[in-house]
Amino acid sequence: MKTPVPDYLDEVLDSLRGDTGGANADYIPELAAADPERFGMALTTTLGRTYAAGDADTEFTIQSISKPFAYAAALIDRGHDRVLEAVGVEPSGEAFNELSLEGETHRPKNPMINAGAITTHALLAGAGAGPDARVERAVTFFSRLAGRDLRVDERVCASELASAHRNLALAYMLRTYGILDDDVPSVIEGYTRQCAILVSVRDLSVMAATLAAGGIQPVTGERVMDPAVARHVMAVMAAAGMYDAAGDWLTRVGIPAKSGVAGGIVGVLPDLVGIGTFSPSLDSHGNSRRGRLVFERLSRDMGMHLFSSD
Ligand code: GLN
Repeated sequence: MKTPVPDYLDEVLDSLRGDTGGANADYIPELAAADPERFGMALTTTLGRTYAAGDADTEFTIQSISKPFAYAAALIDRGHDRVLEAVGVEPSGEAFNELSLEGETHRPKNPMINAGAITTHALLAGAGAGPDARVERAVTFFSRLAGRDLRVDERVCASELASAHRNLALAYMLRTYGILDDDVPSVIEGYTRQCAILVSVRDLSVMAATLAAGGIQPVTGERVMDPAVARHVMAVMAAAGMYDAAGDWLTRVGIPAKSGVAGGIVGVLPDLVGIGTFSPSLDSHGNSRRGRLVFERLSRDMGMHLFSSD
């Protein structure tokens, strides 16, 4: 690459600014009001160097990008066997809010869809932990990954909670199958708070770089999780992070990733780099439209496809 990285990143954003397709998520009223012009990206290497462009410090709610990181915390808190007993690792091929359960066990198919993420949230902070401890665990763990103190956006959280009927319905189904055994409304409130944690693309890139570095936060140098946890989380992201577009994403982009309805996408290339993008307008799968185009460019221009051999 002859051009310096920051110039290249600016050029990528500029080349895609004209793409105004898609639409903000509107089932959470506060997200519908987000400025669709916002556009930012950041890359952090496993050596801890960050390159950023556009709206790199604009905060937005993490939403479903919280799922792989909460999954990592649950694996740490409860161990592999207990977590796998509750949530599978198979791609569902369905939308994020489908009730995709496995036939015999009734486990949610994976932790990247809502049913699996709600179950994962309920596993946080050890057996018997209450709703506040679970949220606290998510906020402090994500803060360690980002290297700064993160907080919940109360307006977005309240806005989603006021119409969280579908997630409540998913959780009540999980409760009837014995997958959840907690008070359903407080699990959904906690899960919704986890989704409303504010991050920037800079934060996302550092959080992802921690996975890429096998669990060592590359800026603070702190070991945040074992390499086996990081590997497991990245593998599940590759299989299921992009919901019903996961196969298309893995073949075309080839970067394990996770999207959120606020417009963020996080991507991770093991041993190399963590990537964060933000643009609120979504495609029909609920993935950020311009974010996806950025990932396609990076994959093509920088040879970032996991399976590329050139
Ligand atoms: N909080 C959102 C929900 O549970 C997250 C969904 C998403 O980002 N895809 O519906």
